[in-house]
Amino acid sequence: MQDYIDKPVFRIIADAATELNLPAYVVGGYVRDMIMKRACVDIDIVVVGSGIEFALEFAKRTGRENKVNIFKNFGTAMVKYKGEENWQIEFVGARKESYRKDSRKPLVEDGTLEDDQNRRDFTINAMAISLQKSDYGRLLDPFGGMNDIKARIIRTPLDPDITFSDDPLRMMRAIRFATQLNFKIEEETFTAIQRNVGRIKIVSMERIVEELNKLILAPKPSIGFKMLEMTGLLKLIFPQMQDLKGTEFINGKGHKDNFYHTLKVLDNLAEKTDSLWLRWAAILHDIAKPATKKFEPDTGWTFHGHEFIGSKMVPKIFSKLKLPLNEKMRYVQKLVLLHLRPIALAESHVTDSAIRRLLFEAGEEIDDLMMLCEADITSKNPEKVKRFLNNFKLVRQKLIDIEEKDRLRNWQPPISGEVIMDTFGIKPGRVVGEIKTAIREAILEGEIHNNYEEAYAYMLKQGAIHGLNPNKGISNSHPD
Ligand code: ATP
Ligand code: MG
Repeated sequence: MQDYIDKPVFRIIADAATELNLPAYVVGGYVRDMIMKRACVDIDIVVVGSGIEFALEFAKRTGRENKVNIFKNFGTAMVKYKGEENWQIEFVGARKESYRKDSRKPLVEDGTLEDDQNRRDFTINAMAISLQKSDYGRLLDPFGGMNDIKARIIRTPLDPDITFSDDPLRMMRAIRFATQLNFKIEEETFTAIQRNVGRIKIVSMERIVEELNKLILAPKPSIGFKMLEMTGLLKLIFPQMQDLKGTEFINGKGHKDNFYHTLKVLDNLAEKTDSLWLRWAAILHDIAKPATKKFEPDTGWTFHGHEFIGSKMVPKIFSKLKLPLNEKMRYVQKLVLLHLRPIALAESHVTDSAIRRLLFEAGEEIDDLMMLCEADITSKNPEKVKRFLNNFKLVRQKLIDIEEKDRLRNWQPPISGEVIMDTFGIKPGRVVGEIKTAIREAILEGEIHNNYEEAYAYMLKQGAIHGLNPNKGISNSHPD
């Protein structure tokens, strides 16, 4: 264990402990991550005494610039310390928690190191390393966390029914850690989650979604979603995703299970990007399939308009899950709405104007959209996959060629409404909008190039159709 804490930052903490005569231990995530050889810059220190007093002493020893963030209500303090790493150190007084059935908030009192280890969520998160002079570097592992790391197991230190009932968020955390670390949840712990899922309703959605997002950012998020589904948590926290599960058969014809399809798309994408919101777009791309599902005797199962209905469902889902209702949400909506477009292109003859329209509508999001669409190819037929991926290459090349030529990615109309009004001496109104649209359509259709001169000439022609002359206004009494 010595190696893990053979760093200047721990020497400073140990000196502070000696000075204050307060025992201090590194605990939780940092210990776990060091044993697993994972990078970690968050350090949790348990002090048998006041965590706040300890943090102030640490700050004094490391210079004034390190501000101390004190959370009085929790008896904790956070210090950011730029040493050999950009450390984030949280000091907390050892405490004992007791929960009562009728209240979510535990009774908290000062406790021993052991009390503090007892209140932790999992054996692998309950290990501590001593920073005392007398036994510097000694591992205190009362629940066999070391063995569980070796066996790759998530297990609660105490009776799992009590651990989960006390703080039901721990059920989400069990699944999140199992996903991030690719561990199994030990059987007793797993069945306790199944028994206690109903308790999740007392946890705020903000805390739940924080764990959900960490799960989504794991290397293979499907692991976590499958466990959320199997335990019954998914139905409670995100029912629209649960609804994707299952296959229906009519006249012997079935459709694919959209839950597992979505997870495959998500995993595919997770190999290519760390973007949380692009991963969310994968999760939601087919979310309206259950709502739009129809069986048509001639064609079989259809999901007409699921991209449109899906993009409309996004705000409600984001709001329920307490995800941000801002440009992140609009980004996800846009990708859901457009997710069929590249594949439609790849399937048919690719015209320049279709490419121009896609560029125009996707704008900055075109690359992410292409990534999502490639991830969306989950066919088991290798020939089909090969054909699609080849066609995608073609679409990608065309996108590059056309963008170089026409610059439509961040398209601004070459002729503004003001120019139209000034030229024809008309007021804002329907005609101005019609002329603008006509110019845009002509550019997208490739009738004219995307530049001022050609657009201006085209505007004059359009004006004439509306009976307008340059600088003279309306020639035949057409008030508008
Ligand atoms: P990460 O930082 O990757 O999320 P972590 O293990 O450091 O992992 P934190 O949420 O930072 O997780 O919590 C730090 C430690 O606090 C954990 O290792 C665990 O010992 C304890 N802990 C956190 N949340 C809970 C909880 N809800 N119930 C019990 N113990 C918890
Ligand atoms: Mg942490």
